[in-house]
Amino acid sequence: MCMNECRFCECGRNSVYLSFRDNLLPPEVLLTLYCPHCRPQAALDRDTTLEDCGWVLEYDVKRAQAYFDLRGFKQRATPEFLFDEGYLSWQGLAPGDEAVNARLHRRLEPLVRQDYALYLQTLKTEWTAHVAGLKEAGWRKAQAT
Ligand SMILES: [Zn+2]
Repeated sequence: MCMNECRFCECGRNSVYLSFRDNLLPPEVLLTLYCPHCRPQAALDRDTTLEDCGWVLEYDVKRAQAYFDLRGFKQRATPEFLFDEGYLSWQGLAPGDEAVNARLHRRLEPLVRQDYALYLQTLKTEWTAHVAGLKEAGWRKAQAT
């Protein structure tokens, strides 16, 4: 079970859903979130920040490490580790994934009663195409799919 949290970026124009694997870290470990609009304000420090297609996540790495140590979790907290392993990263593969998924389900909903097999097939095909698009665009989590 993961808890979800919606977080606005620094300029407030965009928001994302975040995921917290095993609820190991509290939301405060993500100090600041920058969207492509407010990204120029971000101080890109490789020890504390991670960039993904124009978005920047700034982590309180020391605090994350303290939580890891407290739980006897023998990993070194780095922005890459926190993000790639899902301890504090996007819900889904990229910001907005939730909305895309919801729209897709809504659009295909009439098919559920007409032809369930076709519904499942179309859902799968369209989602696969979406993920391929994310991968091509360079989204970090999509690269692993
Ligand atoms: Zn912003």
